[in-house]
Amino acid sequence: MSQETFRALVLTEEEGVVKHAIRELTNADLPEGEVLVDVDYSSLNYKDGLAVSGKGKIVRRYPMVPGIDFAGTVLESASAEWKPGDRVVLTGWGVGERYWGGYSQRARVKGEWLVPLPEGLDSRRAMAIGTAGFTAMLCVMSLEDAGVRPESGTVLVTGAAGGVGSVAVAVLAQLGYRVAAVTGRESAHGYLHGLGAKEVVPREELSEPGRPLEAQRWAGAVDTVGGDMLARVLTEVSYGGAVAACGLAGGAKLNTTVMPFILRGVSLRGVDSVMCPRPRREAAWRRLLTDLPMEMLEEVSRVVPLAEVPELAREILVGQVRGRVVVDVN
Ligand code: NDP
Repeated sequence: MSQETFRALVLTEEEGVVKHAIRELTNADLPEGEVLVDVDYSSLNYKDGLAVSGKGKIVRRYPMVPGIDFAGTVLESASAEWKPGDRVVLTGWGVGERYWGGYSQRARVKGEWLVPLPEGLDSRRAMAIGTAGFTAMLCVMSLEDAGVRPESGTVLVTGAAGGVGSVAVAVLAQLGYRVAAVTGRESAHGYLHGLGAKEVVPREELSEPGRPLEAQRWAGAVDTVGGDMLARVLTEVSYGGAVAACGLAGGAKLNTTVMPFILRGVSLRGVDSVMCPRPRREAAWRRLLTDLPMEMLEEVSRVVPLAEVPELAREILVGQVRGRVVVDVN
């Protein structure tokens, strides 16, 4: 690569069809922004799958460089907060959706969207966590805020072999929770036990809505699936328990009754990583350093080149990607 040009995955739309290509760009092609970052790694998240495949109306304007997160080093900065050489991480804020993202060797963004690379993490590990792992931590913190504790009982994780799910299982197990993991993949049972799950629940068991109140099984749940599975999980949460809902891999509609809320005091807690305020972001990254064992992070993640992203984008939408995929843009 010459000094002047760098590579990025660029999405364009032609007659309603979204196309992708790896292109050579220059700094002048990048959008306006305060901080120019030399990107080391990005990652693959469900939303990237939607964006790259042209689904779900994630991207509103083309051309677009997708990639909702990245980690790298500041090259130039017009923001008082950052200087060349600073190691940074970005997740969310509409990057890779409304603003050009991380599937690129360079990115130009607002200074306030960046957080310092946490001490003790390198950029590859930061992206092995990425948006999905960060969201998993936010879900665990949300359950804690609702009063769920290891002694409360079993905590369920849905979509457990996916990116958010894998990290949630590993963190909860490390914190001493008894974890039950829901998966549709028989091949993932050993993997989930390896991450610390004590029980694996086949997806079919929780796919039907069920009665308004079922037997109380879960002190809490991290739900990445939504739809009928979330509806079913709510009917099985124990008195006073909570569900942290962050995803829609199984559907966006929620068809439920008020019974779990008014008869069992169950709470349904929404979790958003995109606009999450900065103090909570920094707290979540700090918690990941202490509560996610590094050997588990290695276990859940693998590194792929940028050229493999389009195929993996297709696979993540049909639930075929296990754990976390780190994208090496260089
Ligand atoms: P993944 O595809 O890696 O994980 C999703 C998992 O859900 C799959 O691996 C699969 O797990 C399960 N699954 C897929 N389809 C279905 C289905 N039809 N019914 C039941 N289970 C299904 O995606 P991510 O982990 O990156 O993201 C998970 C969800 O969280 C997505 O909806 C994503 O948009 C959302 N998300 C939300 C964020 C927020 O800020 N709120 C941030 C990050 C992610 P298994 O094979 O084990 O059954």
